[in-house]
Formats: sequence, C-alpha cells, structure tokens
Amino acid sequence: MKKTFFIVAVILSACTAKHITAYPEQKPAGVLVNGKLFTTIFQQKAAEYRALCLQAYNIAWLRLDQYKATTAKPKAIITDIDETVLDNSPYEAHQTLQGKDYDPASWYEWTAKAAADTVPGAAAFLKYAATKGVEIFYITNREERERLTTINNLKTFNLPNADDVHFIPKQTISSKEIRRQAVANTHEIIMLIGDNLADFSMLFDKKPMAERLQNTDISANDFGSRFIVLPNPVYGDWESSLFKFNKLTPAQKDSVIRAEVKTY
Ligand SMILES: [Mg+2]
Repeated sequence: MKKTFFIVAVILSACTAKHITAYPEQKPAGVLVNGKLFTTIFQQKAAEYRALCLQAYNIAWLRLDQYKATTAKPKAIITDIDETVLDNSPYEAHQTLQGKDYDPASWYEWTAKAAADTVPGAAAFLKYAATKGVEIFYITNREERERLTTINNLKTFNLPNADDVHFIPKQTISSKEIRRQAVANTHEIIMLIGDNLADFSMLFDKKPMAERLQNTDISANDFGSRFIVLPNPVYGDWESSLFKFNKLTPAQKDSVIRAEVKTY
C-alpha cells in the first residue's frame, strides 16, 4: 500500500514539474494582473459573452417593435461602433501579447485593415431596423482619418447606412453629446446602442467612478429601454475612471486595482 502511494506521488510530482516547465511565465506580470488577455479571451470565446450580446440586441428588437412615434420626423437609431457593432478583440490580443497598451499608431494600423468582425446580433438587428425605415447613425470616437476604412469595414457586412452622412466620427472632443443633438434636430431618436455609458448621455462624460455609479442608478429606467448596453470587460470609461483618467504604467495600474478591489 505504502509502495503504491510512493509510486503515485512520484508520478504526480513528475507531472507537476513537467507542467511548470511547459508553461514558463514569459510576460510582464502587470499585463496578466490587469487582466487584458483574460477579458479578451472572454470576449472571443465565452458563449456567455455571445449570449449577453444577443440578449442586448433581442431587447433592442423588442423595443423597436413596441416603439410609438411621437413626431413626424424621420426615425433614427444612434449606435456606437467599437465593441457595439465591430469586434476589435484581435487588436487587444495583439497589443497585450506584446506587453503593450492601446496606442493610436497601432490602432490606426488595425482599423486600416478594415478586418473587424461584427459583435454578435448587431448586423441582424441593424438590418431589421433598416427594413422598418429607421436610419442608423454611427456616432463613434474613431477619427476622420479612419472614415474610409471604417465605412468599408461596415460595408463588408452590408450594414445599413454605411456612408459619409451616417458615419459621424470624433472631431475635436470625445463627448458625443453635440453629435447626438445634431441627429436629434432632424430625426426622432428611437434608441441608443453602446458599450460605454458615454455613448448614451453626457451624465457619463469623463466622470469619476463614484459619480458614474450614481448616475447609472439615476438612469436605471433607461437601460433596456432607450439605452441598449453591450458588455465590454476589456476597456472603456469604467477602466479610465478607475485610473482617474491618468495614463499609468502596468505596475501602477496593478497597485490601483489591488487598492480598489473589495475583499474580506
Ligand atoms: Mg464602443
């Protein structure tokens, strides 16, 4: 009996040693600790991420069918692009595997490829809205220089209104409020779709973390109603506000996360 135990123990320890040898730690700790790779693989591979996106677009579908017009203006839906219509997770993976954060130069390289896939449910819903005579306005913080390639990327999937009039990029400021108002002047807005709360209301424009949470409660009735929210565990104002909108090193981010996380 003792001999059997000894043999099993030797085999187990050999397996453990082999496991450690096969997966050496190669990347800066901060990259993994900050969780970019983990959340990116969630976006790419978790059926639960896919289900959450489908759930969001199913609600959008329901709200569109229920919608009663209040004016004679043409009807519109305002949608964000990144992580709402287009999936940029390959860009996140590309950067993270090199131990790098987002930076504009590498981002422009990615968007120039016009190779992003769609977020689950987005294409079917936007096409359905178009069949109901609703115009889609893409209000995005992509920039003017990304106009042509972004429109081409949307066209790959035959998305409605993929044209110069409906693609509304960032000009000078990140806030989308002025651009939303411009659409509201000419159209009745049925709903807004986004993965970042600043896609919906100026209540969420560059606000501290606590205020974002308070304003979410104030807007509670709008979620799943006028505001359709997509999940984005990888990046967004939730992350920027955590770091107080400062540009931090991975080690500094790691310290902030450890200081903020609730444990017992
Ligand atoms: Mg977005």
